[in-house]
Amino acid sequence: MRLAKAYEPKKYETDIYSLWEKNGAFKPTMRPSTGVGGTKRTFSLAAPPPNANANLHIGYALTVAIEDAIVRYRRMKGDKTLFIPGADHAGFETWVVYEKELAKKGKSRFDYSREELYRQVWDFVEKNKHNLESQMRAMGASVDWERFVYTLDNRVVSTTYDSFQKMWEEGLIYRGKRIVNYCTFHGTGFADIEVVHEREKTKLWHIAYPLVEGDGPSTSLGVKEVIIATTRPETKLGQSALMVHPKDKRYQHLVGKKVNQPLVPDSPIPIIADEYVEMDFGTGVVTVTPGHDPNDFEVAQRHKLPAIELITTEGKMSDNVPPPFRGLPVQKARTSILAALEEGGYLREVKDYVHSVAKCYRCGTPIEPLLREQWFISMQPLADKAIKALRAGKINFLPESKKDQTIRYLQEVKDWNISRQIAWGIPVPAFVNVDDGGDWIFNSDVSQEAIKVGDKTYHRDPDVFDTWFSSGHWPLVTLDFPKGEDFKQFYPLSLMETGGEILYQWVARMIMLGLYLTNKVPFSDVYIHGYVLAQDGAKMSKSLGNVIDPFELIERYGSDALRAGLLTGRRPAVNQGYHPAKIKAARNFANKLWNIARYIEGKIGDEPINRGD
Ligand SMILES: [Zn+2]
Repeated sequence: MRLAKAYEPKKYETDIYSLWEKNGAFKPTMRPSTGVGGTKRTFSLAAPPPNANANLHIGYALTVAIEDAIVRYRRMKGDKTLFIPGADHAGFETWVVYEKELAKKGKSRFDYSREELYRQVWDFVEKNKHNLESQMRAMGASVDWERFVYTLDNRVVSTTYDSFQKMWEEGLIYRGKRIVNYCTFHGTGFADIEVVHEREKTKLWHIAYPLVEGDGPSTSLGVKEVIIATTRPETKLGQSALMVHPKDKRYQHLVGKKVNQPLVPDSPIPIIADEYVEMDFGTGVVTVTPGHDPNDFEVAQRHKLPAIELITTEGKMSDNVPPPFRGLPVQKARTSILAALEEGGYLREVKDYVHSVAKCYRCGTPIEPLLREQWFISMQPLADKAIKALRAGKINFLPESKKDQTIRYLQEVKDWNISRQIAWGIPVPAFVNVDDGGDWIFNSDVSQEAIKVGDKTYHRDPDVFDTWFSSGHWPLVTLDFPKGEDFKQFYPLSLMETGGEILYQWVARMIMLGLYLTNKVPFSDVYIHGYVLAQDGAKMSKSLGNVIDPFELIERYGSDALRAGLLTGRRPAVNQGYHPAKIKAARNFANKLWNIARYIEGKIGDEPINRGD
């Protein structure tokens, strides 16, 4: 054959890829035939599973480029190299996409049972999974397709269940009412790191709380009331206390006294002292609202104060507030509470104020911190082990700074809420006694709504696990923990390569869970990559219209050009712009190689060379 004048990747890439695949080139075998002679080393890497619900984006193209380059290098050196692909059911992310699909059909999640929804989303994701596989192939990822793992595969579910059960039996899992970041629109709770914070203009309202008569002569105290400052008047319908800083000289003499709550009759509350208070915020006196503020919740635990639920999961005022306000949506309640405070003469001052508001990262609804019964993991024992391993240098980080960052995160990690109130995900394998809300049992038969044990009936927890709980087991499930051949041969993985934005959610959790279940770190090296930004350094986003589709680039320049172009000049953990010139340069380089081959072909022809000559 005579090679064409210019290299046209489109004509060859698919065929070359299937040739490799058919010949088992991506299998983890020793390769003495490479000419290097083969080594006794193994090298293993499990690709971060992309969301099964979407097309692969340019960030994932970078992931593939980095990982595949390392994998091919290792393979060519003769290492027994394993590269495992996968896909993530991406609980909440997928759920949001599917809800939009439903909306297009004029339907919503309320039209179906949980089981029906689960099946529908399953089919929806199945369709996309194949799409995802062909896109991975187009990118040239030299993964072992027979080892593909989907995060809802049986082995993932059973490993997750075993781990949950083990933690339960060892007292690391508990059921607790805790403040959860709750989106009242999506009806689900979020981890702290899933919440976005936005600066917003608001008001700081100053409200007077009269001291209780007879609780010491008010003249001797020199005051008749205490004024607090708040940005959330709607939560002032059921406080547990007022609090001041113990060192605040203005209020020390009032600690231990009681005040009346302006709009709540006959409900005196104490004034307490706690270091949590910032003396220079407002008047230096704040209310304690344990039912709707995570910090106040901790204060209340320290001081043994009750937590009153004032707002419901629908974002309305609960039955625990005085009658005129019950059932009002939060915003409306705010208006009428302010009017009532004004009328009663309790509203003293209103100031402009800028603060940070927590919002749902999908729909922008302000997050309502609510008390919910949830499953929690006690993180301290897991984190301590991880910190020790990291300090002992058991894992190399590139860049090194990410290790310190991970340690700092682990030192302050809060207990992990692993419950999610959506239908799409791995069901929590726990059942509650219908007659005793405190009586929970473990049972992995989640296909049952209810089970009988003796004469007791137990109902399944309707919640599913946080996606990160199952994907925190990724190095284990991809290697078929605990008994699989791959696990024996390849654990711990040689490398974990991923984006810096999931260092805490994912990398830190894999380390903790890996150590917990195997006493070994789950990988030896961590490489963190940054974002691929737009050319001008802005973040790529649909709303800005600056999203680059990697498959258009592959179509035009070929996958080698895309990969080399993305890799050129890239540094770990640094967000860097996308430069079309680099892709073109890589295309030209590929063409140069083609021309070299063409030149040789012209000189010696294309007959196979007989080594014996
Ligand atoms: Zn939301």
